[in-house]
Amino acid sequence: MRLSSCFMPTLKENPAEAQITSHRLMLRAGLIRQTSAGIYIWLPLGLRVLRKIEQIVREEQDRAGAQEILMPTIQPAELWQESGRYDAYGKEMLRITDRHDREMLYGPTNEEMVTDLFRNNVKTYKDLPKMLYHIQWKFRDEIRPRFGIMRGREFLMKDNYSFDIDTDAARITYNKMYVAYLRTFARLGMVAIPVRADAGAIGGDLSHEFQILAETGESTLHYDKAIEDFNLASLAGDIDPETVEKLQSLYAMEEEKHDPDNCPVPAADLRTAKGVEVGHIFFFGTKYSEAMNAKVAGPDGNLVPVEMGSYGIGVSRLVGALIEANHDDNGIIWPEAVAPYKVGLINLRTKDDECTAACDDIYRQLGDAGVEVLYDDRDMGAGGKFADMDLAGMPWQLIIGPRGLKNGVVEVKNRATGEREELSLEDALKKVS
Ligand code: ATP
Ligand code: MG
Ligand code: MG
Ligand code: MG
Repeated sequence: MRLSSCFMPTLKENPAEAQITSHRLMLRAGLIRQTSAGIYIWLPLGLRVLRKIEQIVREEQDRAGAQEILMPTIQPAELWQESGRYDAYGKEMLRITDRHDREMLYGPTNEEMVTDLFRNNVKTYKDLPKMLYHIQWKFRDEIRPRFGIMRGREFLMKDNYSFDIDTDAARITYNKMYVAYLRTFARLGMVAIPVRADAGAIGGDLSHEFQILAETGESTLHYDKAIEDFNLASLAGDIDPETVEKLQSLYAMEEEKHDPDNCPVPAADLRTAKGVEVGHIFFFGTKYSEAMNAKVAGPDGNLVPVEMGSYGIGVSRLVGALIEANHDDNGIIWPEAVAPYKVGLINLRTKDDECTAACDDIYRQLGDAGVEVLYDDRDMGAGGKFADMDLAGMPWQLIIGPRGLKNGVVEVKNRATGEREELSLEDALKKVS
């Protein structure tokens, strides 16, 4: 993408409405714009990041055996009346009446709808287990939307739903998702701490919240430092069931439930940090299948309600969480896995025909090699170009000027380390490809 034709409205000043770094940087780098409280337009750069995160989440869901569907954003009230949550959900639910006076709602989550889908189409234990997920916009009328897309009213969530014949099978499914979550966050370059949680409004008896460490997090966590090592190991391969049980037995508590006098972890091994909830998994048994009559025939022919779980990831919240974890004073530092472009190509002298011809050629070569490049071909001073490229946070910068070209070298800068190197063009291209 040529920056001269890219829609990337950057801001020099810090927007007054933004209280935290990620919100400031998302506005300044031109990733999002607010249209009303907690509701945002995703601009080209922001959307590219959102899509990359979405794809990683999708790959790990598929890998764990879940199948993708797409349920609508608008749901009929009747389903929620059946489960009993229509009244219980309260003011966070955006309620809509259509032209025929039918009560509808903008989905804050999809347990009811997917249970309805299941009961209408699955009749026997032979079709179990099943996991169905979608990645869809949700609406929750948060009382205090804040921190940009971190606590929006409209947000993108991956929500997966599982159906099993009994609790043993459901436990295996739960652990599969637990591992999928560890892998997902590790691929995003994040340390996620799974914290045993109250099941809250969804109800049930087994639940973990996945918390990303960030200073601006809303909860305070106390956890065994061994969890951090497991996190990274999760990428190396499949984690066996024993390891999962061991990991789940490690200490991790939210502030309210942490008792320093009765903590099983020695002080030297205990970490305290702020966390942002980026994922949440629940096993809630037959809560919805009983209420909504989702039953299948078991091996003995008798009808039994299915054992269910639900598993959410805040895909749009992750964009903010990633920036909270990866930035410096100059701007965003994207991990390669989710960067909008891998390389920022900077033409220092657009008026110099040779320099521009060389840049155009590099841009073409990288494009042919499948490398995503944001090419700053704008006719403006080098200072502004450096500032914008640092702000936007591409992992690699290729800086091309007439003087270097004369000596047969170009400059490569690593955004994360700040390290700059002069290399031959060939070596530079190899480095960033
Ligand atoms: P929170 O405690 O932050 O309000 P929640 O517990 O209400 O979140 P869940 O119902 O567990 O959220 O939904 C699954 C995931 O969706 C959360 O872990 C979070 O990552 C994301 N999420 C929830 N609410 C929002 C929101 N208002 N804006 C962005 N992401 C959200
Ligand atoms: Mg909430
Ligand atoms: Mg929560
Ligand atoms: Mg939650």
